[in-house]
Amino acid sequence: MEKYDVTVIGSGPGGYVAAIRCAQLGFKTALIEKYPSLGGTCLNVGCIPSKALLDSSEHYHNALHSFAEHGIEVKSPKVNLGKMIERKRGVVKMTVDGINFLMKKNKITVITGHGSFTSKNTIEIAKADGSKETIESAKTIIATGSKPSSLPGIEIDKKRVITSTEALELTEIPKHLIIIGGGVIGLELGSVYGRLGSKVSVVEFMDGLIASMDKGLGKELTRVLKKDLGFEYFFNHKVTGVSSKGKEVTVVAENKNGEKVELKGDYCLVAVGRRPYTDNLGLDKAGVKVDARGKIEVDAHLKTNVDGIYAIGDVIKGAMLAHKAEEEGVYVAESLAGQKPHINYNLIPGVVYTWPEVASVGLTEEQLKEQGKKYKSGSFPFKASGRARASMDTDGFIKVLADAETDEVLGVHMIGPRVADMIMEAVVAMEFRASAEDIGRICHAHPTFTESLKEAALDATAKRPIHM
Ligand code: FAD
Ligand code: NAD
Repeated sequence: MEKYDVTVIGSGPGGYVAAIRCAQLGFKTALIEKYPSLGGTCLNVGCIPSKALLDSSEHYHNALHSFAEHGIEVKSPKVNLGKMIERKRGVVKMTVDGINFLMKKNKITVITGHGSFTSKNTIEIAKADGSKETIESAKTIIATGSKPSSLPGIEIDKKRVITSTEALELTEIPKHLIIIGGGVIGLELGSVYGRLGSKVSVVEFMDGLIASMDKGLGKELTRVLKKDLGFEYFFNHKVTGVSSKGKEVTVVAENKNGEKVELKGDYCLVAVGRRPYTDNLGLDKAGVKVDARGKIEVDAHLKTNVDGIYAIGDVIKGAMLAHKAEEEGVYVAESLAGQKPHINYNLIPGVVYTWPEVASVGLTEEQLKEQGKKYKSGSFPFKASGRARASMDTDGFIKVLADAETDEVLGVHMIGPRVADMIMEAVVAMEFRASAEDIGRICHAHPTFTESLKEAALDATAKRPIHM
């Protein structure tokens, strides 16, 4: 039986990064992945393919709606969905190939097959050809990720009633896409098809979009997606039934007064969150505990209740984000090597890749109120930015929240052009515990979108923005 110092189960961003860091630190490392394609949800059916389609659909939408104003005349642009999906597959393949290269470079043994514990230190891998291999491992990192959740009584047939995985591989543009869930997946994939011409209806249980982020962001995004893509919303509505017949799907939802709406479309995307994935992992044989929601329980050091077994990423508590999983992978590897790593969970940025993009870090205004913290708020609209006017991206704003007494930045919330990248300035500033005045006094290149953060910080620190 082959013996390893560390075995990682699952090759998503948590797992493959953990494996690389373990190998860098000198551990004999194995990575078990049930699919032949490494990279997990993120590379194969998540972050990367969704962003590839978001970019393609954005080009098309711009060609239709903003080229003319820029003085560019193109005759009736058309979508070739097959080609668009093919390009997306190419992007995924290139990225997955990159992971294969990194595994070889770091001398990590990749074992393809479904891994399950047979004891605390032994893992059996069931391979596609029916054969089995058992390995022994001193330490194991569980990084088995998540799968789409469903709703009770709703059957996802993967043809008309679909999850994000199928939505990334459609062969036609939906005429009317009904989306259950106004969260990140619903809005990103809704944007893709809305830009390509689908009518999009969003049924959301809460009273607004992206409900876990600062409320102001959801409000602005609701307005802009309606204005630009014609999104229709059913907030405060709980879906009670979904059925499909031939090419038609029917979604029934109910508001808080018990009033029903019935929507008919040709596709229904169920995007109501994701569940931790531990199916047939043999957790009982290793003695690893899960919580009531099926998430693997870990302590502050990401160790499970069993010595030598750790868990990271979507399969444990916390935000289901690729970069959070990566940080946790590095954390466990370095802890195993006797180092003292640290993750600042308060400063994990969240991004929604709609247009305008949405990005956030730190505490929201609602959380500050809930905690009874005294704070100052400053904001700056992109319509006052010269750079945004030049590119015709004037929707959105940046909001900076700072401690009322010390001026320390406590939260930054952005909706606007390229804020997915811009949020990192706020993360760095907050990591170094900057005050709003610090950000306001840093020289920002002109003209850039980033000047809007400086202006919002000046507004927060002493109500003295320059350009407003
Ligand atoms: P995963 O990426 O889910 O990987 C787990 C791996 O483990 C899988 O490959 C699985 O096959 C394997 N596995 C499971 N069980 C076993 C077993 N028993 N044996 C062997 N292998 C096993 N996050 C972002 O930060 N930014 C984004 O833009 C973003 N976009 C997304 C878009 C979509 C459509 C979706 C669905 C998700 C998106 N996410 C995004 C979330 C992100 O994909 C996840 O947070 C991230 O992939 C979690 O990483 P992970 O390593 O924990 O698990
Ligand atoms: P989500 O939690 O973001 O949104 C789900 C939404 O569905 C919520 O707003 C919820 O209120 C609503 N909902 C739940 N039950 C409902 C019902 N019965 N009727 C109507 N609405 C209902 O989940 P998601 O969009 O499925 O995404 C899953 C995970 O993937 C998220 O945790 C997210 O972090 C991750 N993800 C991240 C990105 C990114 O970082 N850009 C992109 C995609 C996915």
